[in-house]
Amino acid sequence: LCLDQPLGAGQSVLLAEAQAHYLFGVMRLTEGARLLVFNGCDGEWLAEVSEARRKRGALTCLEQVRSQQMPPDLWLIFAPVKKARTDVIVEKAVELGAARLMPVLTDYTNSERFRRDKAEAHVREAAEQCGALWLPQVEDAQPLSRLLQGWPEGRTLFWADESRAGARDSFASAPDGPAGILIGPEGGFSPAERGRLTELPFVHPVSLGPRILRAETAAIAALTLWQATHGD
Ligand code: SAM
Repeated sequence: LCLDQPLGAGQSVLLAEAQAHYLFGVMRLTEGARLLVFNGCDGEWLAEVSEARRKRGALTCLEQVRSQQMPPDLWLIFAPVKKARTDVIVEKAVELGAARLMPVLTDYTNSERFRRDKAEAHVREAAEQCGALWLPQVEDAQPLSRLLQGWPEGRTLFWADESRAGARDSFASAPDGPAGILIGPEGGFSPAERGRLTELPFVHPVSLGPRILRAETAAIAALTLWQATHGD
């Protein structure tokens, strides 16, 4: 269970109403039941239910079972697509170990509404499901041009470029170290964006194979390929 309070030996944690409902109404846990909890920074803890009411509850942390792990230093930059498909991108990015999720608005982005609060809720659910102990940071959407302007020195930007489908540009030929992966919207990147990306020294274009993938498939494929060549 993902909590948003500090965890430590003997620490008592009050549950939010929705969490109490889930644990005691849905999962039918009662006082004395034990479960694993994490909060994104204090590792994973075995905790015991110390109070179990319908809308109120508390846990007590007993012992740490896993110390805090950090994700690889990989950012996923993606143009939001339709809601359900953006949800897939967020969920899979957590499973595949992205540290930061950065939505960008590009010339052909056709779904400009990105709900950061909803994405954060998906991040928590995905982390609970896959056993990741970290919670990737979710940013508000920003224009691609602003992101490129403020790109940090020393970080490679892997540009998933659909026009190179079938080419042999790959992740393997880029240096190790901090990185980002850029996935475009349904319509791909505009000629102006391609021009700009092509001239930037930190941008490393990559192909994801011979066919044009949907944006969410491209995100999954790119994250997996990066993990295979650059992950821990
Ligand atoms: N129209 C489809 C959709 O609705 O999702 C395809 C979208 S594809 C143009 C979206 C993005 O996925 C591209 O901008 C690119 O970043 C990435 N992509 C898809 N196939 C790719 C490939 N074979 N190589 C590199 N990038 C690819």
